[in-house]
Amino acid sequence: SSHHHYSPNERGDSRRAKHCDAAHFRPTNHHWHQSSATPEQTPPRSQTLCTRREAYERAFPLYKQPVEVGCFSLDSQRRFFNDSRQMRYYVEPDRSPNFDLSDGYRGRYVKRDENVKEKLDHILRWIVANRSKLKSKLSPDASCPLDFDFVTWRGHLTKLLTTPYETREGWLLAVTRFNGTLYISEVETEAARRERENRPERNQEMMYWGYKFEQYMCADKTYSEPDSSGVVNTNEAFCTVVQTRLTDHKLLFSGEVDCRDKDPDAPPPPACYVELKTSAEICTPKQRSNFHRFKLLKWWAQSFLPGVPRVVAGFRDHDGIVVSVETFQISKISQLIKNEYNCWKPTVCMNFCCDFLSFVKREATEDNPSVVYLFSWEPHKDVTYSVHRDSQYSFLPDWYIKEMTCSGE
Ligand code: GDP
Ligand code: MG
Repeated sequence: SSHHHYSPNERGDSRRAKHCDAAHFRPTNHHWHQSSATPEQTPPRSQTLCTRREAYERAFPLYKQPVEVGCFSLDSQRRFFNDSRQMRYYVEPDRSPNFDLSDGYRGRYVKRDENVKEKLDHILRWIVANRSKLKSKLSPDASCPLDFDFVTWRGHLTKLLTTPYETREGWLLAVTRFNGTLYISEVETEAARRERENRPERNQEMMYWGYKFEQYMCADKTYSEPDSSGVVNTNEAFCTVVQTRLTDHKLLFSGEVDCRDKDPDAPPPPACYVELKTSAEICTPKQRSNFHRFKLLKWWAQSFLPGVPRVVAGFRDHDGIVVSVETFQISKISQLIKNEYNCWKPTVCMNFCCDFLSFVKREATEDNPSVVYLFSWEPHKDVTYSVHRDSQYSFLPDWYIKEMTCSGE
């Protein structure tokens, strides 16, 4: 039996719960990185965390089935709405559709300004707008504290899941403890900023391909068809907000969702959601192996976290013409990769994420919205951190601190 199914969530309905593997696994001892041997029986706690795969090969940790607690939309001007107005509906394409993904790149493309750093702002706006339904069981009348250990974007958790296998790009994650909750917000590394600013024209166009594919595959209404003559505007987004638990870490995170099944009898969110991807067509065994080793890891991590059950992939040629479309069930990906020698493992991804969150809980102890613990990682190294007071890294806005502070209201 497979070891990476969700554990049933006590709040999940029976329709969802019966598809889950009931196996629970207790987390085993944490594999903190330890410096050289000491004479004592109990080794000292290290201020660094090891990222080697071998350290995380243990039973799959408890990961509760994610439950959608809300959603929000960002419009063509990146304005926030506490509703699903940007939801799109999946439309099954032809088997070989010949979509031209470059169409509209010059002329019908409005690109989000990547110099604007939104940090956690949209999630924080959602939290403020939905405070009443997030009431803590311990203090149901108070507007605080929040009953979550961590609040973050799904994309930041994806980076954590893939860290033991990442050899190219490091990361910086800013963490602030406020009213007992740990907020995690990414900081762009110098290397990432340089790469973004020097992105070749060809790569710019390939980034567009992914968005154009979504336009070919999605309709705005359950009863309408995709409109590939329209503008692609990457400011627009529909985001789900889910809660779940990874061992003893209660998580609240949000992620952008491409579209949903339009069948009214489809299961409730997130099980009805569909992730859309494009990838180079696979022509050789080497290309297939690379697809399994690198692409499927990223796809699996991103969709497993919020409980999105399937990815629909458009395979395109060098000119950006989609030559075939294939559906991948997230629950079957670990079977697909089993024949790859020395391939990635879901359990390593989840155990590393779990231990990183424990490390953060242990080290980020000062509860202060103007203090940032900056966790830093480079490939082939351990995770380290530094502490910053009232610095450029502070990311919780004053309006959020004011709204979420109990006294003085
Ligand atoms: P993903 O899993 O990496 O796609 O990220 P999320 O689903 O967690 O998205 C979080 C938010 O960040 C959404 O509002 C996205 O529109 C936005 N976002 C996603 N990718 C990028 C990116 O590469 N750059 C910037 N600036 N924003 C992004
Ligand atoms: Mg997508």
